[in-house]
Formats: sequence, C-alpha cells, structure tokens
Amino acid sequence: MLDSFNREINYLRISVTDRCNLRCNYCMPTEGIKQLPHEDILSYEDIVEVVNIAVRLGIDKVRITGGEPLVRKGIVDLMKMIAEIDGIKDLGMTTNGLLLDKFAQPLADAGLHRVNISLDTMDAKKYKLLTRGGDINKVFSGIKVARKAGLDPIKINCVVVNSSQEKDASEVRKFCMKNGIQIRFIHQMNLASGEFSVVEGGEGGNCSRCSRLRLTADGKIRPCLFSDLEFDIRMLGIENAFMKAVELKPRSGSYNRSGKFYNIGG
Ligand code: SAM
Ligand code: SF4
Repeated sequence: MLDSFNREINYLRISVTDRCNLRCNYCMPTEGIKQLPHEDILSYEDIVEVVNIAVRLGIDKVRITGGEPLVRKGIVDLMKMIAEIDGIKDLGMTTNGLLLDKFAQPLADAGLHRVNISLDTMDAKKYKLLTRGGDINKVFSGIKVARKAGLDPIKINCVVVNSSQEKDASEVRKFCMKNGIQIRFIHQMNLASGEFSVVEGGEGGNCSRCSRLRLTADGKIRPCLFSDLEFDIRMLGIENAFMKAVELKPRSGSYNRSGKFYNIGG
C-alpha cells in the first residue's frame, strides 16, 4: 500500500493485550491503568482475520506486542495461526522477556522468527525499581532460551533518558556486544507532548521512511503512534479501516493524547 506521501506501508504491529506483568515507570502510571474490558479485546480469530486482510493489502512484516504479549493466554496458538498465513516475510515479537524462558521454544516452533527484548539497565536493583518489581535474572534466562530456540536476530530495546552514552545504556551495550546481540536505543518519549526522536540502531521515529500501521488490542487501526487518529475495524469494517488509515496517515507525528504505549504497542 502506498500512502499519500508515497511511503510504502508494509508493516503491521499488533498489540494483543493492554495487560502487563511489569509497570515500567515511563510506560505505566504509578496508580496502575484502567484496563480494557474483556469484551472489547479482539479474539485470536479476529486478529487472524485482520492479518489475512492486511497481507492481502500488502503487509508482509508483522510484530506482536502489547502490553506484554506473553501474558495473554494462548499466545503460542495465535503465533501459529499468524505464521501459517502465506505472505508474511518477517514475524517478530516485542517482549519484556520475563516469560521467555518458558515461551521462546514453543513460539519458535509455532513459527516466530525473532524477538526484541526490552532491557534498560544491567543493575538488578535498578531494574526492579524501574519496572516496579521485575526480576532481571528472568530476562537473562529468557535471552538464553531465545538464542537456543533459534530466534534470530535477538535485539535489545534499551530506553535511554538523555543519551545512549549514559551509564546504564553503556553497560547494556557491553552485554550485547559480548553476547552477539543487536541493540537499539530508544529515547524516552512522551506521547502527549509529542516528544519523540529517531531510534538509534532501528527504524522507528523516522517519519519520512515510516512503513507502519498499528492494530490496538481493542480493534483500532492507528496510522501513527504520535497521532490521535484511529479507525475502528468493528465500526468501519477491516478493509475500510485499513484504507482510511493509509489514506490519512500523517506526514509526520505530532502528539497523541488518547493512547499510551501499553495499549497501542510501542
Ligand atoms: N511489554 C513489551 C516490552 O516492554 O518490550 C512490549 C510492549 S512495550 C510498550 C514496547 C516498547 O515500548 C518497549 O521496548 C518499551 O521500552 C517501549 N516504551 C514504552 N514506553 C516508552 C516511552 N515512554 N518512551 C520510549 N519507549 C517506550
Ligand atoms: Fe509493560 Fe512493556 Fe510497558 Fe514495561 S514497557 S510496562 S514491560 S508494556
């Protein structure tokens, strides 16, 4: 699909849940979140139908994200259903890694190609603080199992406050170099005020080359993370929602006051 600025749109990021087993301080408010009602969340059959139509329209790259995708029950079954769709060249997942030790092998068997794992520090205490309770050792064992399972390449998403040279980021970089893992530095963003920048080592944040659409857990197609525009597949029909999202995809991001990373999918 070509949008009105001649960008090829071939990448769909799917948030399968707004729930998460962490509470990262830059992602979730301290007081917790108001979760989507269960009945609003797309079923796996719904998601597969969306992906089928998306692929027919020209999507060939799919990423499963959230919230935390591994907390949604039956995620391996969904992966298998998506992997079986003809025409997907690249099937990835973004996860905090906490449950990867359990899920990496079944996901790889189901057809997942690769994973991005979020890790902002190597310091166990800091990790616990930053994520409000996470155990960093679970992430390390998740990475190990993911490698064994052949998920390749493994990439680390490292959120930085000021620069990729800051101490925590440098330590995560060292760990990645030692273990042959790619790393991308994401500057901490603020959706509501429109603070965003290009992801170092990745593709995000570069509006002129953006190829993405997003599907929220409650069935909205969002053409841009930094925009309030969304098109409801239940109201408009799936194909029509895609066409509208592509047609009205903004030239560049501005701000987003109606969504959050955990419900749109970072
Ligand atoms: N729970 C999974 C995880 O953490 O990898 C997937 C969803 S999470 C919303 C996706 C990515 O968004 C993560 O890499 C996370 O670090 C990033 N993210 C969340 N809030 C952010 C913010 N305010 N600025 C920049 N990146 C953010
Ligand atoms: Fe959960 Fe990912 Fe948000 Fe952290 S960044 S709170 S792991 S959704």
